[in-house]
Amino acid sequence: MASLLLAHALGGCAHLLPGAASPEGGSRGKPSTGWLAHGSRLPDRGPGFEALRTETAGGLHFGTDRLVGMVRRSARAVMRDGVAVPLKVGDLSGLRGGLVTRHHSHRNGRDVDLLYFARDAVTDRPVVSPGFVRFNRAGASIGVATPLRFDAARNWRLVEALLQDPHVGVIRVFCAAWIKALVLDHARRTGAPSWLVERADLVLVQPGDSAPHDDHFHVRVACTPAERVLGCQDGGPLWPWLDKDWEKGDATPLDDDALLALMEPIPPGYEHGPPVGESSPRAAAAKPEDPAYSTPSSALVCR
Ligand SMILES: [Zn+2]
Repeated sequence: MASLLLAHALGGCAHLLPGAASPEGGSRGKPSTGWLAHGSRLPDRGPGFEALRTETAGGLHFGTDRLVGMVRRSARAVMRDGVAVPLKVGDLSGLRGGLVTRHHSHRNGRDVDLLYFARDAVTDRPVVSPGFVRFNRAGASIGVATPLRFDAARNWRLVEALLQDPHVGVIRVFCAAWIKALVLDHARRTGAPSWLVERADLVLVQPGDSAPHDDHFHVRVACTPAERVLGCQDGGPLWPWLDKDWEKGDATPLDDDALLALMEPIPPGYEHGPPVGESSPRAAAAKPEDPAYSTPSSALVCR
């Protein structure tokens, strides 16, 4: 019944609902206050990627199907360019979303941290990122024993893949302003299409309310129309180039009865997401002195 109503509400075009095989699953609420229904788990490793921390070590591996798919696809895209080292993936969300340590957001399955690709500063060989490594304006690592260099080429390749992924709408890629400059300078120098560079210029942004993100990209994808009906809030701009499937305005307005029929009942006490500590007990047990999170930057307060 709910599916029929939903299809009707969206103009009778159920095929226009990306990721809507299960209307009950997906992202709920805001990235900073919401939760996750029936999320997918990103494996600890796969073609071209590797989790920074296993789940048992407090890593957060759950997201919407789309977000998990995006990580897999973008990692493969960079790997196809002949890169032997994996993309290091930081936190997604907890099993059911909700409040997690280390982050303001990451609560409703649409945020993921992707560590920067790096090269050995001496040999110039690609290296597996040892963790959250900060980079300065010249692209040199800060505070690590083995000096590294920001790999602008591969990091641009990653951004390209994210922005061109047809299955998600990437609305934000948070990173420090000087990291953005390194990436876009490379793109312009190497003749990347101007339309793509212009999009990247809009989507890549330094957050104003948390650490500047000089040690990882924080990627956020849009809600689907089906999720919006169920209360998902994007937490970023819906860019004009995103496929119309992602636009807010492609649904026939719902009358109150139809809307109520579609609303999930929110369990008592869950009005602002699962109670503290319930969503990710393992994350809460993570040791703050873990070397992967020991650099004095955005590690403890990602967006
Ligand atoms: Zn993050």
